[in-house]
Amino acid sequence: MAKRPFAYGKGTLRCDGVALSEIADRFGTPTYVYSADAIRGAYHEMDRAFDRLPHRICYSVKANPNLSVCSLLAGLRAGADVTSGGELARALQAGFQPEQIVFAGAGKSRSEMEDALTAGIGCFSVESEGELRLLSAVAAERGAVARFALRVNPDVNAHTHPFITTGLASTKFGVPIADASDHYALAATLPGLRAEGVGMHIGSQMTDLSPVVEATQGLAALASKLLERGHTLRHIDIGGGYPIPYGDEQPDTPGQLATEIEPMLRPLGLVVLTEPGRWLVGTAGVLIVRVLYRKRNGAHAFIIVDGGMNALLRPALYRAQHKVVAVRENSRNTRAEVVGPVCESTDVLSFEAMAPDVQPGELLAILDAGAYGFSMASEYNGRPRPAEVLVDGAEARLVRRRQSHEEIMAPEMGL
Ligand SMILES: *Cc1c(COP(=O)(O)O)cnc(C)c1O
Repeated sequence: MAKRPFAYGKGTLRCDGVALSEIADRFGTPTYVYSADAIRGAYHEMDRAFDRLPHRICYSVKANPNLSVCSLLAGLRAGADVTSGGELARALQAGFQPEQIVFAGAGKSRSEMEDALTAGIGCFSVESEGELRLLSAVAAERGAVARFALRVNPDVNAHTHPFITTGLASTKFGVPIADASDHYALAATLPGLRAEGVGMHIGSQMTDLSPVVEATQGLAALASKLLERGHTLRHIDIGGGYPIPYGDEQPDTPGQLATEIEPMLRPLGLVVLTEPGRWLVGTAGVLIVRVLYRKRNGAHAFIIVDGGMNALLRPALYRAQHKVVAVRENSRNTRAEVVGPVCESTDVLSFEAMAPDVQPGELLAILDAGAYGFSMASEYNGRPRPAEVLVDGAEARLVRRRQSHEEIMAPEMGL
């Protein structure tokens, strides 16, 4: 993985050239800060990992949909993986080439299909027979051809958190791999469809990528069978799910995975698609928050900060562990939970017993928050979503301002 962009210098935590304390003073808190160099570095590393195969990296927009982040990746010639009409609009706005966009998701609506056909996207990732039939009807009505890849469910356990496992038969995702050939045979009889590829995405944050190796074997066998039967496939999509280290662990890398699956993929002669989200942006971002209070309830000590589950939901949603560090270089720790201002008991940023020993007014940085951070933020409790800042070298640019209360209320008409 690329060099970590956040390090201490002159007594304060910095993102590349810029002090996080300066960013907090200029733009307030809670604020997400992303390193453009770290995102570029991760993209190039993943590109190199697959360079022995014809390939395309489709950035999974839901990990961090900020337009400036997307446009940075589009500028590197990445494709995009979107999961809704809203993400499609965003991907187009950010400059991704329509033919390099894949549209995933088990619940696409008719209007989302229409928008994607109008845009001329590269591929629909289809997850059920019902969706296949609707896509055919929508395309045929418009005299268009929808290119599709079936997302198969290989029934492989990704051994990640149960809430982010997607390749088991017990999850809603994909079509059972045993039924896939029948779906392609059916599609060949329907108007308005063209088989473009086969695909899967079996989970997220798979510290051990061997389930992907196992599932790729099944997917490659399916592709080979379909090619023999005369289906005109052009790609095989192995999904995303690459892990980043949230603690001191050393998870598997894209390079290791690519080396293992290359022999299965090369004979197919297909373009290999992969859909990383977290891996491209996760370690490139932090959330900075300001300490409001310290308090003690009996045996429990708390550090209350100005952004909680409304700003970063992952700890409350998955019990995800993020490292929390002081922005001012400070080696002292204290026994306390870091909690937000939201009126919920799950509003915790760090369940760890130890936290930096910071006082009200000081800043904390929640590390590795560049993926599934802002994208899951909400206005719960009437709190504006955080601001977002993109650091490029020595320049810090506000890429999303904090909403005002008026902006939050604006869509509610009638008063
Ligand atoms: C979310 C998602 C991804 C990206 O997952 P990461 O774990 O962030 O790499 C890729 N493909 C699909 C279909 C997804 O839903």
